[in-house]
Amino acid sequence: FFEQVQGAPADVIFALTSSYKADSHTQKVNLGVGAYRTEEGKPWVLPIVKKAKHLLVENEELDHEYLPILGLETFRKAAVKLILGYNSKAIAEGRVGAAQCISGTGAVYAGAHFLSKHYPIKGAACYISKPTWANHRAIFEGVGMQVLEYPYWDPATKGLDLKGMLGTMQSAPNGSIFLIHPCAHNPTGVDPTNDQWRQIADVMEAKGHFPFFDCAYQGFASGNLDKDAYSVRYFVDRGFEMFIAQSFSKNFGLYSERAGNLTVVARSVEVKNRIESQIAKAQRAVISNPPAYGSRIVSVVLNNKQYYQEWEQNLSTMANRIIDMRNVLYEELVKLGTPGTWNHIVDQIGMFSFTGLTAPQVKVLKEKYHVYLTDNGRISMAGLNSKNVKYFAQAIDFVVRN
Ligand code: PMP
Repeated sequence: FFEQVQGAPADVIFALTSSYKADSHTQKVNLGVGAYRTEEGKPWVLPIVKKAKHLLVENEELDHEYLPILGLETFRKAAVKLILGYNSKAIAEGRVGAAQCISGTGAVYAGAHFLSKHYPIKGAACYISKPTWANHRAIFEGVGMQVLEYPYWDPATKGLDLKGMLGTMQSAPNGSIFLIHPCAHNPTGVDPTNDQWRQIADVMEAKGHFPFFDCAYQGFASGNLDKDAYSVRYFVDRGFEMFIAQSFSKNFGLYSERAGNLTVVARSVEVKNRIESQIAKAQRAVISNPPAYGSRIVSVVLNNKQYYQEWEQNLSTMANRIIDMRNVLYEELVKLGTPGTWNHIVDQIGMFSFTGLTAPQVKVLKEKYHVYLTDNGRISMAGLNSKNVKYFAQAIDFVVRN
């Protein structure tokens, strides 16, 4: 049957991790995968997650029945409040829906799949930022939608190309779909300022575009959950209908548990109910119902004031260590007098930094220094620590000079 099947290329990030694991060099560094690491270079189970896990284990009432198709009610409600704010008017009006999905990826998929079936403008394209997380294109193309790009990264300033972004939003057909990173843009680490968000909302409103936020790093960008939700809440206040994919992989360190949510902000209660029912129908045919463990952990923490505060402290620990590493890397490069400007390392926020290193330079980093990062020069800051940051700065210095 399958003689004609062509092999598919391996996923770049997962392949990078495999190469790193197979490398026996003692000074190897993995800056590929976007997963938090401690100062010792180890994965971190958040103390508040440990506590929540104990609570769940002790609760003998907890069974392993199926969750409802749209997931754990307490989790969905808490996820929605987390992103839209505890005093959200839209929530009070009952026009915000939610579907627990297979983490952020599944939430983007559920939203994309819904849009491919029910978006009122037939053939509308989804615009993704250039560059973006590679799965965005894969997911939207996978559901049969046309994917186009809007400019985002300006290599000259190593910052936001606002003019290019607004220009494409202006020239796109009315009612296009725009996939937007609300904070800690992956891969660039460059976010619009509050005033730039206003300009983006102005154009999107005038053109009747639909915002689809992909929020994988709330709390991770600044360490402040409200600040990182600013753009989403601002768009809601302006009256936009929207989708928001939420991931709890990074901010809870629950990568393998696949805890995510699709928040739906609709015009009315009735429309919200109908959207939820369609997402439930589609979800039933793909996963039947979502997994319980990760969502239970998140729900325990978000629904208890004291746990919530402890979680915020854990988030600050992660965000601050990453910010420290940005500062140290920057200082090391300045000390070495490495040619070029490096302030973008400290100006960018979140898990990633878009270094500006080229693919040939990345190749040398890998082959000569055993430092693993993606060809576009993106580094996961969490892979750096006080033991390897100097070594990495020296490696950058070498490849930039040679
Ligand atoms: N969106 C973006 C922009 C991401 O960076 C990620 C994680 N790499 C995700 C979504 C989804 O991650 P997950 O499925 O683990 O929640």
